[in-house]
Amino acid sequence: MSFTIAIDGPAAAGKGTISRALAQEFGFAHLDTGLLYRAVGVKGGDPLKAAKTLAPEDLNRADLRSMEAGEAASRVAAIPEVRAALIAFQRDFARREGGAVLDGRDIGTVICPEAEVKLFVTASPEMRARRRWKEVGQGCYEDVLAQVRARDARDTERADAPLRPAADAVMLDTTEMSIDAAVAKASEIVSARLGR
Ligand code: C5P
Repeated sequence: MSFTIAIDGPAAAGKGTISRALAQEFGFAHLDTGLLYRAVGVKGGDPLKAAKTLAPEDLNRADLRSMEAGEAASRVAAIPEVRAALIAFQRDFARREGGAVLDGRDIGTVICPEAEVKLFVTASPEMRARRRWKEVGQGCYEDVLAQVRARDARDTERADAPLRPAADAVMLDTTEMSIDAAVAKASEIVSARLGR
């Protein structure tokens, strides 16, 4: 059986936590597609060459989760040829036997428009910056907020595969929601679609 859960939304909205929880609960494989762009961004040199030659070990680098890697990712992610080079891998992953959860920015709109479940997870920029700032545990909240806003702008305003909800995505605003409540809601939606 193949069954795809597509989860999109801006940085620090809770996509990763929800995706991991759903993958665990339903026994699906999980792909954090941001890691692909992060790996291309930190590799340096020609981004298209980096995308075309991306290897599994590139996704295990310890520095992929940093704010700098996120910035680099969002720059290379605006290059259409880089995005095109990463499509086949993501689509193959999505249709693998046993079910898959993919989280990113364009999963429901471009990578898997046929996904069985599409969620768009969002939260106010202030709340997302606050969560990211607490997670990092250093620096200044205003700087984190500025970075969140800059990344949102780059991701939503780019011409190719901009961040936006698919027409048939279920919206999940986590601004006033605990992460447990958001996971429970997402799980309910998936269970209903699976007929459980
Ligand atoms: O989700 P994460 O913060 O790891 O993503 C880093 C950057 O990679 C995003 O800001 C976005 O520019 C890009 N990205 C993308 N499409 C995806 C996943 C990530 O453009 N499917």
